[in-house]
Amino acid sequence: MPWFSKKNKRIEAVPPEERVVKTENVFVKCDSCEAHLYKGELDEALQVCVHCGYHFRIGAHERLAMFFDDGNFEELDAEVISIDPLQFVDSKPYTKRLHQAKETSGLPEAIINAKGKVGEHPVVAAAMDMSFIGGSMGSAVGEKVTRLIERAITEKAAVVIFAASGGARMQEGTLSLMQMAKISAALAKLDEARLPFISVLTDPTTGGVTASFAMLGDVIIAEPLALIGFAGPRVIEQTIRQRLPKDFQRSEFLLEHGMLDAIVDRREIRPFVIKLLSFMMNPEIREEQPSRNQSAKSGLRK
Ligand SMILES: [Zn+2]
Repeated sequence: MPWFSKKNKRIEAVPPEERVVKTENVFVKCDSCEAHLYKGELDEALQVCVHCGYHFRIGAHERLAMFFDDGNFEELDAEVISIDPLQFVDSKPYTKRLHQAKETSGLPEAIINAKGKVGEHPVVAAAMDMSFIGGSMGSAVGEKVTRLIERAITEKAAVVIFAASGGARMQEGTLSLMQMAKISAALAKLDEARLPFISVLTDPTTGGVTASFAMLGDVIIAEPLALIGFAGPRVIEQTIRQRLPKDFQRSEFLLEHGMLDAIVDRREIRPFVIKLLSFMMNPEIREEQPSRNQSAKSGLRK
């Protein structure tokens, strides 16, 4: 009797076209230290290199999912999208650019508004996304940020905005520049309502976004080595006719010069913000009488 016998069923051969080792999307090379990172491990580390701490750029949905309690949030104002008021054409028509941005990014706009709980605190948060026309601020982005702040006032919630932007959207001309003043005015109302705004600057935060709401936070924090500035270094060098220092416009330089309150690793942002909110959210405000709340609401609608 043979020790081994063939089973009736033969193992089926794998067709040649399927004989490939699937390594695609398993490893990612770090842009900074060039280490090969296992994708699963990178996801777990919130897209931060475990060797050198390099922060990969991430999308708006990803950002909000890692921020809210259990990743639960309700998306708001998704119906607010850009139109083409100036019928602007640069290398291609603006309408075409918008259409392509929607296709490639899968997003309705360069910012996503959401509400939910963060460490049990009521929070409305927005995250900008560089994959939609460089995260630029047009009328729709400005309107969404303003609505977010107004909602925080009526619902007595804190505002947290994750900035990631190339600046104002030039295809909307002065209409995009007006958003800077509009959002700043809404933030002044938030301040009057004694509610906190925490601004989180990520790589890159530049142009009109830096020049308005990104720098108006009650607390301003940034991710490590994020590019933060208004104009680019070349333009500044040409204007002031001086060589700029190394690491100019990076988080670390800005912290040293008093522009930021803290630099926080992405993996620590959620606990850091919870600590801030526990300190800043005034329990009195949430206990105020509903009648006062009602009058505040009607005041806003005027
Ligand atoms: Zn690395």
